Amino acid sequence: MTQFLQEVNDRINGVPIQRCFHCRKCTAGCPLATEMEFNPNKVIRMVQMGMKDEVLNSSTIWLCASCETCVTRCPNDVDIARMMDTLRQMSIEKGLSVPQKKILALHNAFLTSIKMFGRINEPIMLAHYKLLSKDYFSDLAMGLGMFLKGKITPFGPRTRNMAAVRKIFKETKHS
Ligand code: SF4
Ligand code: SF4
Repeated sequence: MTQFLQEVNDRINGVPIQRCFHCRKCTAGCPLATEMEFNPNKVIRMVQMGMKDEVLNSSTIWLCASCETCVTRCPNDVDIARMMDTLRQMSIEKGLSVPQKKILALHNAFLTSIKMFGRINEPIMLAHYKLLSKDYFSDLAMGLGMFLKGKITPFGPRTRNMAAVRKIFKETKHS
């Protein structure tokens, strides 16, 4: 087993990646496979082969929408969505350049919201995303329409047990 595969398995802490026997059911169902540099099955193979630099520098890990279609289709319960998330975090920790700046901005805004409130606070997350992406006006009309219809409220929910949330971030080294 390569060091990279071992590291990914340790972080996922679930079904080991080598359980995949490459039936490609995940790729056949992935709504974004045609847009990806490497399809989900290929990313798994690359992880198995220890191709760390290629995987962590790939746009694929940022295009995955975490929809979990692949996970539900996999006969071996390989959690590809969790693997993609792990790979994104490894890429950030390594300080690699992410070409998909807006996706990275949304990723960071999402995690910051969870860290602050234990769940998504839409107005704050959106404001944070706008600041990070510098895309201030592209969907202003839609946001205003949602606000007027009560789909977005200025007072988002907050998890009561914030100590547990902080513990999760600490133990997963996100703090
Ligand atoms: S569906 Fe599961 S076993 Fe099949 S290729 Fe994808 S990850 Fe591997
Ligand atoms: S979680 Fe990612 S890899 Fe899996 S089907 Fe959705 S977009 Fe594709």
